Amino acid sequence: MKEKVAIVLAHPDDAELRCYGTICKYLDEGKECILLIASSGEHGISIREEQGKNVLLDKKLREEETLLAFAGLSISFRFLHQKDGYMEYGRDLIHAIESELIEMQPDIIITHYPDSYGVDHQDHTSIGKAVLNCSSRINSVKKILLCDPLKTVRSGFMPNYFVDITDYFDKKMMALECQKSQGGRFYLEENFHKTKGLFYAANLSYELARSEHFFEAYEMYICYE
Ligand SMILES: [Zn+2]
Repeated sequence: MKEKVAIVLAHPDDAELRCYGTICKYLDEGKECILLIASSGEHGISIREEQGKNVLLDKKLREEETLLAFAGLSISFRFLHQKDGYMEYGRDLIHAIESELIEMQPDIIITHYPDSYGVDHQDHTSIGKAVLNCSSRINSVKKILLCDPLKTVRSGFMPNYFVDITDYFDKKMMALECQKSQGGRFYLEENFHKTKGLFYAANLSYELARSEHFFEAYEMYICYE
């Protein structure tokens, strides 16, 4: 039977930013991947706020941007329609995620690093905590990977699981280009992801960094057979 991977993240662009290459690799390895996106990212408007406007983004637009980013890959999606920016760790969020995971029965979960310093987006932290809370009640789960929170150094993130995404790096950049509504953000740029990918490569082997290998990094929370 195919290994099942549940990717549980807060917003439509989170998977593209943090684990797109890993998802591509897992799919090529024959794993089944399901992307559960907790909100539709309607408050992803900081660029517009700079222009003095305070409007909500079209939920469908952001969902479609992510569907486009994964077009051609055999991955399935579930949208939980939680309120973007207002997700709070607690019973309701835990219940919403747990119901989905009980149905999915995943072998592997990829989710947000529940940054205890509060450096990362509040929704990311809430989702990470909610997933870790309910995962011990999902018997199928054998491995949990916590994603790079992007502000890596300031968050206390200690990566110990690295996925070589060199073969998928260009595809990841194309996926990020689908996030038109988020245009202008530094973390969508190729330089940002190259720097991160090479930084992790150099931590593993100088030779890998010299030969332009790129990695996505995770803190492995649990792993057993
Ligand atoms: Zn996010």
